[in-house]
This record gives sequence, structure tokens and C-alpha cells, in this order.
Amino acid sequence: MKISFGILTVSDRCSLNIAEDKSGNNLENLIRSEQLIGNGEVVVRHCVPDDKEEIKQYLKLWTNMGVDIVLTTGGTGFGPRDVTPEATRDIVDREAPGLAMAMFMRSLEVTPLAMLSRPLCGIRSRTLIINLPGSTKGSQECFESIAMSLPHAVALLRNAQAEVENTHQQLEAEGPKHHHHLHHGLSHHHHHHHHHSHHRHSQAVVDSKVDVSKVARRARTSAYPLIDVQTAQQTVLEHARVLGTETVKFKDALGRVLSEDVVARDALPPFPASIKDGYAVIAGDGAGPRTVLGDSTAGVKPDELEPLKTGQCARINTGAPVPAGADCVVQVEDTRLLKDADDGRVELEVEILVAPKVGQDIRPVGSDIKEGEVVLRKGAVLGPSELGLLATVGVVHIQVYKLPVTCLLSTGNELQEPGQPLEPGHIRDSNKTTLIALLQDHGFPVEDIGIAKDNPKSMLAKMKEALSAGDLVVTTGSVSMGERDILKEVLVTDLGATVHFGRVFMKPGKPTTFATCEYDGKRKLVLGLPGNPVSATVTSHLYVLPALRKMSGCRPLPTIIKAITEDDLILDPRPEYHRVVLSWETQHTVPTAKSTGNQISSRLLSCSAANALLILPPRSDSVTFVARGKLVDAMIIARI
Ligand code: AMP
Ligand code: MG
Repeated sequence: MKISFGILTVSDRCSLNIAEDKSGNNLENLIRSEQLIGNGEVVVRHCVPDDKEEIKQYLKLWTNMGVDIVLTTGGTGFGPRDVTPEATRDIVDREAPGLAMAMFMRSLEVTPLAMLSRPLCGIRSRTLIINLPGSTKGSQECFESIAMSLPHAVALLRNAQAEVENTHQQLEAEGPKHHHHLHHGLSHHHHHHHHHSHHRHSQAVVDSKVDVSKVARRARTSAYPLIDVQTAQQTVLEHARVLGTETVKFKDALGRVLSEDVVARDALPPFPASIKDGYAVIAGDGAGPRTVLGDSTAGVKPDELEPLKTGQCARINTGAPVPAGADCVVQVEDTRLLKDADDGRVELEVEILVAPKVGQDIRPVGSDIKEGEVVLRKGAVLGPSELGLLATVGVVHIQVYKLPVTCLLSTGNELQEPGQPLEPGHIRDSNKTTLIALLQDHGFPVEDIGIAKDNPKSMLAKMKEALSAGDLVVTTGSVSMGERDILKEVLVTDLGATVHFGRVFMKPGKPTTFATCEYDGKRKLVLGLPGNPVSATVTSHLYVLPALRKMSGCRPLPTIIKAITEDDLILDPRPEYHRVVLSWETQHTVPTAKSTGNQISSRLLSCSAANALLILPPRSDSVTFVARGKLVDAMIIARI
């Protein structure tokens, strides 16, 4: 596992850009070179002036982000503005004087003036903070003198047992040798160290770095800005991209989206075909009697039909090939029998009652579909007619966009799977059932990842399971303001995810969260929906389905129509998505919308039978309700 570093340069001059941050650059290069520490990575860097509060602010911020080690450089001397150790002391939970002492031992060998440095090292949460002097040379020497102990320190702070044992053994084995060599600065032996450290990350036991113990100190207001629904949807859609294409059999392709044009290989009809049951004749013979030459029924081979000559006709059926020589068809209703034989088994002569025109009742070759014609365009959604077209043109293998796989995860200590009697304090998990059915109903594959408990370890383990199996992870719960609502923290701190939004101005669904992260080398989307069943359902229609549609190549957003409300509706301060049943009465062209009743977000019954969401605007000073009979926007959420 990588060790993440933050480098905070404390210098009035650097923060004003008067001086170059040489020490910061040098430290970053030392870490980058991986010579001192095999798997370090600088994840954050910043310059601040010698200001105690500003220093504290960054130390706290980076600690919250879960950075493993923060190196400060500068502000440790006797100058009047040197306050880095004081700022550090204010925010650490525990001091680590051994590290400072190791640095002194090393520096004093170089110069006795080192005793005028006042570095402080300490631990805040799981982050180790180390004050280094401000000079490039001094900060490098000090860093070198403690570097070999840092992987072990980080392992101890992460409390990962395997990592602790492993790094401890290494330290024991390599420590003294290191100490000896270090006097020579950066020399070849560091490659040795580098080599060893590679064994480490593969077997690191992963535990969440999220700390939920300090309940009293949790945030009391959300740090995430409240954004509007359109912005939220656009953000999700920007990150939802098609996953590539695959070839499938056309019979398995219902609901899929073509990723290539489909071209007809042969014409339809492939031969001139009759549109009617009647007689193939020569138009030039006009009305009058004809000798019956034979017949052409559907399915016969055109080549085997005898060509017509003047005065002849052939009995023909709908869809059968028109024999050579004939140039039109006369329907049986416009003919009369003149002569038969063998007791009515053979037609010998018929009369054409109406003079026909050339081409009458014949579908010429390619009149429905021309050879080489594009019958379906890239992007076409394959419904029954489209599959029929594929059958017609005989294209049995087609290229379609891949279907995104969604992993569903419920969160909550109170949840149990349906099927057992309720335990005290428990409720049944309904969200997973609803959402699985919803996605399946739209043709998207879903995987059930189960229920995560409200603790960082369980949440992280389940999230990892979900991220490795799905392109999109949908969770419900754990995104509100409770101290156990830890989803965002686990995403950011443990999984390195970027949270694009954490609150949306809507009702229900305000805590809806959207994040992306890199997992197993692939980009994954995470939609964290609120736990309340109605909120989870509504936000699925607004964010989950649009994302999945876009990822599978479809038009993403749901259809919005106008409907007449049958109820007086009081507006909420937030835009509201009110569940309704649309119905069309014969005398109306516009449907009416009947509210499903109490809209509290826990009441899943309000979604039952609902086929649309009325989109109600937020309350304003002048408009506080929508009266019965008014036209309102309605988003379709079910088959109509
Ligand atoms: P949360 O968003 O985790 O704070 O949950 C909000 C509310 O939704 C609480 O009353 C939860 O008990 C309830 N809830 C959370 N997840 C589910 C679920 N999967 N099924 C039914 N109710 C849930
Ligand atoms: Mg919960």
C-alpha cells in the first residue's frame, strides 16, 4: 500500500511567491525518487505564511483527508514568527519525541547550531506530522535520518497487523545498516530498501481509516454545497460513458442499442412478388379471355415457372413470384371462370373483367428494402420491430453497446433481509428489492451485494466488493447528517474517490451523493442514495436510470409531459417530485394526475401504482400552492 505524503512549506516569502520553495521541491523529489521510502507518494502540497492558524488549518484538513504523513518545512527556529511547532502542538493528539530526537542526533553531527531548531513530531488521528527545518539541506538531512522508520510508523497508525509485522521485521533487519549508510547521504543502498519495500503492499491488510469515535465533534452542517437537480443530472451524465461494444445474437438483443449501422445484404422482395391472390397477366392483352398456363404459389422457385406468352395467364397467390413475361396481377375478384376440366380440378380459361395496368399489384424487387440499404442506424434501440427487421435482412449477429453492471448495496445496522421475523429495533430492507426490480424492469443487469453495517470496516469491505463487480455502485442510506452516515468519508478517505456532489436541492432526495473513483484500474461511478424508500426510488429515476441509459447508449433523460392536477398541492421550499397516477379520460387529450396521498419519504405506499412524478416548483413568496385543474410537468416513471 502506498504511503501518502503531504508537504506543507511554512514560509512568508514562499507563500508570497517571493522565494522559490526549494525545500518543498527537494522533499517531493526525495519521496518521488522512492530511494528513501519505497512506496511514498506526495498527494498534497501547499505553502503557507508563518501564521499559526493557517498552519493549523492545513494540518487539520490533510489529517481529515487521511494523508499518512505530513512533512512541514520551515518555521522551527528562534525567529519571532517561527510558530510551526506551536501550531503542530495545538492540533496533535499525541507527541512523538523520538522522531525529533533522531533528527537532532543526525543534525548535531553536522552542526551544533542544530540545537537551535525546535521541531515537534506528533500524531493526529492516523496522520503523523513531522516538523522539518526550513533549509533545503537541513530538511533533507532530518528526513533521511528518520525515513527508514516511517513505513513501520504508518503501519502502526493504520493498525494493519500484517503490515505491522512485515515492516517491523524489515526495520529490525535493515535498521542498523541504514543508520550507518545514512551518513553518506543518498547512496546506492537505498535501492536495496526500495527493492524490499515492494513486498509490502501486496499483503497489506486493508482497514478503513475513517474514525467514527468522536461523535460529539462531528460536523453539524454539511460541507457539501446544495446544487440543483439539473446540475446534478448533468454532472452524473458527464461521467456516465458508454463502456464499449460487444457482439450478440439478435434474438438476445431486445432493448439493446446498436453500435453500428445494419445494412441489408439482399433486397426485399428478392423477386417480383404478387400483392394479391389472382392472375399474373400481360397488361397489353387488355380485358378478355386468357388461357390458364399454370400456377405460382408462395415459396415456389421463380426459375421453374414457365414464362407467359400473349393470351396466357398464371394463377398466383399473395407473396408468390410473378412469372417471367407477366407484367401485372389482376385480383381474383376481377375475373370470371370460362372453362374448367376434371370436375373443377383444373382451370382452363378465365376472363379478365377489367383491363389491367403495367405493374399493377406487383412489388418490384427491392421495393421494401433495397440491397445495401441501411435498415437500422447506430444508436437504434432494438424493440420488437427492429428485431423483426434484423430477421428480415438476415443479420443474426449484431454489435451493441455493452450493458453496465450495477451493484446494489443497502446500508444500516437496523436492516434485515425479508423472510425472517423482525428482530427488536430492526426493519426489513425494502430498497434493494425495489431497486433491483426497477433496474431489471429497464433491462439492466444488477448484482445484490447485501447489507453493509454502519461501521467503516463493513462499509469499506462491502464497497470494495461492489466496486470490483460493478460499473456503477448504487447504495442506499448513510448519506445524511447522522454520525453513522459515513459513506462519503469511506469513499474519500479509503477509496480515494472524488465526491462530485453531496446534496441536491430537491424533495425527497436531498442527501443524494455522486462520486467517481478508480478501482482495479477502471473508472467506477457511485450513486449514494438516501435511505428512505421513497427518496431512494425517486432519486433512482432521476439519477440512476439516466446514468445507466447513457452508459448503454440510450437517450438518458425520462419523458416529461403536461398533466392536470386533480388535487390542490401545497408547495415545499424545495422543488418536489410528487408521486401521482396519470389517467386519460376519453374527453381529455391531457391526462389528469391524482396524488398518491401522504408524500412523507418513508411511506413507500406513495410510490405504489404511481406512474409519474409531478415536478412541483419550489415555493416562492408569491406562489405557495398549485390549485386543482392546473397544468403541471409530469415525469413518466412507468409503462403507460
Ligand atoms: P439513512 O439514510 O441511512 O439515514 O436512512 C434513512 C431512513 O431510511 C431510516 O429510517 C432507515 O431506517 C431507512 N432505510 C435505510 N435503508 C433502508 C432500506 N434499505 N430499506 C428500508 N428502509 C431503509
Ligand atoms: Mg442508515
